[in-house]
Amino acid sequence: MKDATKCLHSGYTPGNTEPRVMPIVQSTTYVYDSTEEVAAVFDEPTRSLIYSRFANPTVMAVERKIAELEGGVGAMCTTSGQAASMLSILNICDAGDSFISTSEIYGGTVNLFAFTFKKMGIECIFVDKNATDEEISKAFKPNTKAVFGETIANPALSVLDIERFARIAHEHNVPLIVDNTFATPILCKPFDFGADIVIHSTTKYMDGHAVQVGGVIVDSGNFDWTKGNFPGITEPDESYHGISYIDTYGKAAYITKARMQLMRDFGVYPAAHSAFLLNLGLETLSVRMKQYCENALKVAKYLEQHEKVESVTYPGLESDASYELGKKYLKGSSGVISFVIKGGKEAAMRFMNSLELASNEVHVADIRTCVLHPASETHRQLTDEQLVAAGIEGGMIRFSVGLEDVDDILADIEKGFAKV
Ligand SMILES: *Cc1c(COP(=O)(O)O)cnc(C)c1O
Repeated sequence: MKDATKCLHSGYTPGNTEPRVMPIVQSTTYVYDSTEEVAAVFDEPTRSLIYSRFANPTVMAVERKIAELEGGVGAMCTTSGQAASMLSILNICDAGDSFISTSEIYGGTVNLFAFTFKKMGIECIFVDKNATDEEISKAFKPNTKAVFGETIANPALSVLDIERFARIAHEHNVPLIVDNTFATPILCKPFDFGADIVIHSTTKYMDGHAVQVGGVIVDSGNFDWTKGNFPGITEPDESYHGISYIDTYGKAAYITKARMQLMRDFGVYPAAHSAFLLNLGLETLSVRMKQYCENALKVAKYLEQHEKVESVTYPGLESDASYELGKKYLKGSSGVISFVIKGGKEAAMRFMNSLELASNEVHVADIRTCVLHPASETHRQLTDEQLVAAGIEGGMIRFSVGLEDVDDILADIEKGFAKV
């Protein structure tokens, strides 16, 4: 099946007289005929459903759909994108381990990696994604267990050279984990370029309607865990009567461990109703992504030629630093643009306050157009010097293009400029 078809049909196939739509199985628990059967499930929890802290039929239907869209062997949903990032690392890093991340990643992920993981004894080594292979290789330590990056970085909007990072990771026998939130599997399938694990904040384009926060981890099944130093996957798990994930689950070792061990222990599993809503978003993901790309490219081109605009960042523009990488990895540049308005912070705030259609909100990738002013909102704690160091100019505006008629979006932008 092609992506548009998978969006509608993967994950759930009703049998004769069964409901057309995957039902919301709103139950915490599942009934068994005998204690022996329950005991068997405790020994081997993937046999059948037992408790909705780590598995539920409605959520699992969505997991199968996302796994098929990404081309992976399995997926596990989480209650947020943050939980997905956290578990993707904790599944292979213990206290005393380290991992490498590109520095251009989502701000919430930076907090998790640089501060919270540090308290847990896990070190994140940040590298510049434009560094040479040699420089990146030098960042590896004997205890380094993974490399992490974002397909289209939020908010930098730069594109990751996935093949290069996969090659470097594999030379050091560790997996490449890619946050594919902004691209979605419709615009990029990181596994096709050598990535091993993909994560998403499903809160963004996958849900698309700004109705629920969620995340997902997808396993390609391609990484050879026996080559590196991953005792958690290759050695017996004491908490499961000495199961070895690699011996028992083979290609699905990573994702099965994430569910059986980490989801069991942390319990950050979405409710069935959330998965039902996420599925509604996924059903139209393919058509929506095409329209986001089309609208955003028109808006980016319009901004680029505007006299009140200093610069525009959007991988779909030929003038953009990521244009060539975008051509290689993306089937479209998604819907988020950032641009710098002439006149700094004051002009940016006046522009934003004058918009009528686009809403001021701390969100991106909504179905409706929304704007954000990093200097006065998400990054307001930073001093002017810190803002410069973080690459955030006072006049920078993050513009998340929605699915309204693009002529109405452009007219709204013109209203904003008229007030500046
Ligand atoms: C929003 C976002 C996250 C965090 O996801 P939440 O669902 O908000 O927890 C992670 N990565 C990227 C790229 C994001 O945009």
